[in-house]
Amino acid sequence: MVYTVALAGNPNSGKTTLFNELTGSSQRVGNWPGVTVDKKEGKLKGHKDIIIQDLPGIYSLSPYTMEEVVSREYLVDQRPDLIVNLVDGSNLIRNLYLTSQLIELGIPTIIALNMMDIVKSNGDVIDKDNLSKILGCPVVEIVASKKQGTKDLINEIVKSENKLSLPNPLKYSGELEEALEKISSEISGSVDSKLERYLSIKAFENDEDMFGNISLSSDKKENINKIREDFEKIEDDVAEGIVTTERYEALGEVGEKVLKKAPPKLSTTDKIDKIVTNRILGLPIFALVMFVIYYIAISTLGTGATDVVNGFFEDTMTPAVADFLTNIGISDVLVGLTTDGIIAGVGAVLGFLPQMLVLFALLSILEDIGYMARVAFVMDRVFRKFGLSGKSFIPVMIGTGCSVPGIQSSRTIENERDRRITIMTTSFMPCSAKLPVIALIAGAFFKENQALVTFSFYIVGILSVIISGIILKKFKDFASDPAPFVMELPPYHAPRVTSVLRDMFNKGMSFVKRAGTIILVSSIIIWFLSNFDFSFKLVEAESENSILAVLGGYLAVLFKPLGFGQWQSAVATITGFVAKENVVSTMGVVLGIGADLNETNRQLITAFNQAIGTPVAGYSFLLFNMLCMPCFAAVGAIKTEMKNNRWTLIAIGYQMTYAYAIAFVFYHLANFFVYKQFSIMTILSLIVLAGILYLIFRPVKYKEEKRTYKLNLARK
Ligand code: GDP
Ligand code: MG
Repeated sequence: MVYTVALAGNPNSGKTTLFNELTGSSQRVGNWPGVTVDKKEGKLKGHKDIIIQDLPGIYSLSPYTMEEVVSREYLVDQRPDLIVNLVDGSNLIRNLYLTSQLIELGIPTIIALNMMDIVKSNGDVIDKDNLSKILGCPVVEIVASKKQGTKDLINEIVKSENKLSLPNPLKYSGELEEALEKISSEISGSVDSKLERYLSIKAFENDEDMFGNISLSSDKKENINKIREDFEKIEDDVAEGIVTTERYEALGEVGEKVLKKAPPKLSTTDKIDKIVTNRILGLPIFALVMFVIYYIAISTLGTGATDVVNGFFEDTMTPAVADFLTNIGISDVLVGLTTDGIIAGVGAVLGFLPQMLVLFALLSILEDIGYMARVAFVMDRVFRKFGLSGKSFIPVMIGTGCSVPGIQSSRTIENERDRRITIMTTSFMPCSAKLPVIALIAGAFFKENQALVTFSFYIVGILSVIISGIILKKFKDFASDPAPFVMELPPYHAPRVTSVLRDMFNKGMSFVKRAGTIILVSSIIIWFLSNFDFSFKLVEAESENSILAVLGGYLAVLFKPLGFGQWQSAVATITGFVAKENVVSTMGVVLGIGADLNETNRQLITAFNQAIGTPVAGYSFLLFNMLCMPCFAAVGAIKTEMKNNRWTLIAIGYQMTYAYAIAFVFYHLANFFVYKQFSIMTILSLIVLAGILYLIFRPVKYKEEKRTYKLNLARK
């Protein structure tokens, strides 16, 4: 006979730590609560017949999140022999909310009171004997992370085997108890008697998954509905709300009996959080921090290093390689391919490596010290205001490194509709491949404000995610309410040098790898296409007769309304679909200015004026390139996550349309305000703008479809 023990508790209450200790396994102890929906199984150390089942971390047994549904399905349907409820003693009352629901299930329960080290250092006192008496189940104090008390817990589990009596559910007010009593007598006989208390409450709450699945005569159902409706009328609240309020009241009384809290002391973390997660200051601080990061990476530290690298490519490597190849008798064409194709293209991208490394290191430090978790918290508030879930911000944050893992991390969003929106919008963020593109164009057109322009695309990215969320949610296929997102904020700590360096190195390596593979191949192809004409004869440098110039000329028509109707910028945009760095390498090859791209000189500016146009056109070029469909790898990730071609096409179609509309509106309005140019296009852009504003502000027509989960309540 196996004895199954379910480990249940709030996220971050130490479940994984305890699970590893009980089973001797070594599961990862996460610091991103809520990100992993974990459900694991293991055998209790030294007891082959006792199976420990680790449930996902949950705050309640209400069917709001996938974790909660998974857990309650397991508990109600599979009915483990014992529940070990992990309770974070330093957050006693909040944790007991789940406990109060667990003990209604009629399953023997042991409370493992964890984090007792923190309870003690806070100076709080918990009367565990009294708690045990009130709840009717054993309470064992532990410090899971230091393995203290876990032996006692194991003893208690072994001792309990099939001998423990059922815990005592909380008692509510007389009126509610009376109503529950009546419901209980209606359902009695139709359900497992141990579940009677739990199902009476569910029937009272009109919880469809539970109540809807009990097979009752319509008379009895009618009676129960009447009891509920009468109660709701008197209390002027919905039944679920009434139960929640009563639960908190009952828990408050328990708290008074068992918990003596020391007056609160503010820790350093709390003091910092008071400022950085402040309702008003949080957002500006975040913007300032990100600006400073971009400023350091793009304009100061990074530029110096980048200039050195560029100087090396331009002044040392290119002539040396050219001389060498000429001396050993290589033909001029191949010398050209090597210097003007490979070195110019790959070098242009690699020239940005120092800036990227500085940026990677700084972002990694922000994450490591714990600041990024605060940002997710601050952004959750902002996102929620617009009907989006804060969970969508984590993919966005990961997407600033690379869209591929960003898109993949959308898996943790349980609401299918929110998940699709997140997949469609994550690539609006400036990933590390797009940054060289921004830095390049910003350097050419806005030298003084290079960092500011680069940073502006971070803002453009976040705004695009929010705007798209608002627009898409008003369509029937996406309408839904934001899922609640609860997140623990880990204490701050000093950055760990090794983990920051490792992260920087890994990201830097993947940047270099892309330059050496996909960018290299693309540069060679671009060089050939731009140096030969359709009869495969060599043409002069930057000739209008090259294959590339002719093909690009046709494509350019598409981009003319956005301000960059030259073949060079059209070709760069198209090669960017393969990999965004290609925009840089293509410019490097077709403008014939090699690795010198990051420097200010007349020749460079002239070249860019020729290839793109005015600074306004330059910004429009960036807007389109940053917001349009991402690189092939990211499109692949979209396809995998959407699991469906139609949705992949919808995603790409949306990104293309959005990018086109935004660049179009920006270009013509900016032209009007900056250069006082007015034309039929200005009017057209106002119409497009009005269309976008309409999509944002039109009234909500569709409300969330109620999700229902089917449960099997067969009597045991
Ligand atoms: P889970 O989300 O419930 O699986 O929680 P974890 O096992 O991942 O633990 C969350 C964090 O709490 C980790 O940083 C653990 O090291 C820490 N932790 C776990 N138990 C204790 C404890 O008893 N005392 C203290 N101070 N920290 C603990
Ligand atoms: Mg865990």
